[in-house]
Amino acid sequence: MRTGTTTVEIRESEIYQALERAEQCDPACLRDVFAKARAARGLHPSEVATLTTVQEPDLLEELFATAREVKHTIYGKRLVLFAPLYISNLCANECLYCAFRASNREVKRRALTQEEIAREVKTLIEQGHKRILLVAGESYPRQGFQYVLDSLATVYSVKSGPGEVRRVNVNIAPLTLDEFRLLKQARIGTYQLFQETYHRETYARVHRGGKKMDYDWRLSAMDRAMEAGIDDVGIGILFGLADWRFEILALLQHIAHLEARFGVGPHTISVPRLEPAVGSALSQHPPHPVSDLDFRKIVAILRLAVPYTGIIMSTRETAQLRRETFALGVSQISAGSRTNPGGYAEGEYDPEAEQFSLGDHRALDEVIRDVAQMGYIPSFCTACYRLGRTGGDFMDLAKPGEIKHHCDPNALSTFQEYLLDYASPATREVGERLIAQTLAGMDSRTRKISERLLAQVKEGKRDVYC
Ligand code: SAM
Ligand code: SF4
Repeated sequence: MRTGTTTVEIRESEIYQALERAEQCDPACLRDVFAKARAARGLHPSEVATLTTVQEPDLLEELFATAREVKHTIYGKRLVLFAPLYISNLCANECLYCAFRASNREVKRRALTQEEIAREVKTLIEQGHKRILLVAGESYPRQGFQYVLDSLATVYSVKSGPGEVRRVNVNIAPLTLDEFRLLKQARIGTYQLFQETYHRETYARVHRGGKKMDYDWRLSAMDRAMEAGIDDVGIGILFGLADWRFEILALLQHIAHLEARFGVGPHTISVPRLEPAVGSALSQHPPHPVSDLDFRKIVAILRLAVPYTGIIMSTRETAQLRRETFALGVSQISAGSRTNPGGYAEGEYDPEAEQFSLGDHRALDEVIRDVAQMGYIPSFCTACYRLGRTGGDFMDLAKPGEIKHHCDPNALSTFQEYLLDYASPATREVGERLIAQTLAGMDSRTRKISERLLAQVKEGKRDVYC
């Protein structure tokens, strides 16, 4: 671990100054920033601030084109897929935007039993999922935090046919250092937590009760997680609460702090936008709504600011917007999601128990077919996590471009598993065509590795990776 300041703080006045100075940047100055961004080594916060000012159609198109180029260079055509698993909607907090907040009587409360969790996981496995994001409100049944640990053990224990869950990421409230150590021992992949808003005053306005009122406890969570040995952490912003330009620069300060202190920044950034939630007036009228165009700008700017950090987009967004955003920088998407506990095994989604309304209700197979038709390789790869290529080790491979020789073959082999074990005939046809096209476009080294893995999968082996 490198030394560096142990406390994370967001320097608001610095952000306002950077945003003010950015207004002076003319087209020539913006084009300099695009040129630097094209090298895919990231940008200084002052340069990122200038990108937030882009309005004019030609410059916007240049911004998007640069983001597409960087995205393509680093991630190629892979798109990692996962499903959220809501184990409980009990919550003691009062986040004004969320249906699960304690005082909301319009939501049916439920914490799944271990048997119910196993049923959910079996359903997800039988759809073809391999990567799960475990989600819960901040109030556990009587077992307390042990409930989360038991749930993780349950998820990893379920097998169905040729399938199993190979990586469980978690999105749960901030923990103590000791609790993070237990989470690490439970073999989680990424620990994910969104600051929601980095703007302290807004944070206080929208978090009105419970432990989550403590801005600093939440902001320092990733420090505790990384101190506890969790290498992959995922941060995020709930867009719509405060000015998105401010939020992006604040997020970069958070990243810079983690890089200075631990030598590596977050593994992923999530970009949820505020969606309507039952019993939440604030969610119906976000204080700082983010338009679709601004949302695409946000994704493009983040792609250029931190090229090697994954960007996650959920089913909060519609299928159309998701399609438009893949090329700009998104590297992971959820699919076939339910945000009500029990929603997978019990079939139809229940609007009275879900956290917020979804924009994309399509089943996994339909999403996969759509993504494949667009030329993206749906990937269920979990190789890095299982080989211990996490945190700094992952970045050491990613930055010189070496990771591609692993990611592309692993994406293809996990996609091939999906096609053989779970796909509908229509998806299988589209998928097989895509695999053949992808192999044809590969350099000979990567093609050889890919062909070896694909042959193993076709012979009946599962979970092969490099
Ligand atoms: N309860 C934990 C917490 O708040 O950190 C973790 C789970 S919480 C269910 C996951 C995330 O859902 C929150 O961090 C928040 O960003 C997001 N969320 C809450 N209400 C939302 C809404 N109305 N629209 C979109 N996302 C929302
Ligand atoms: Fe609870 Fe998380 Fe929803 Fe806040 S966002 S009410 S902490 S579940």
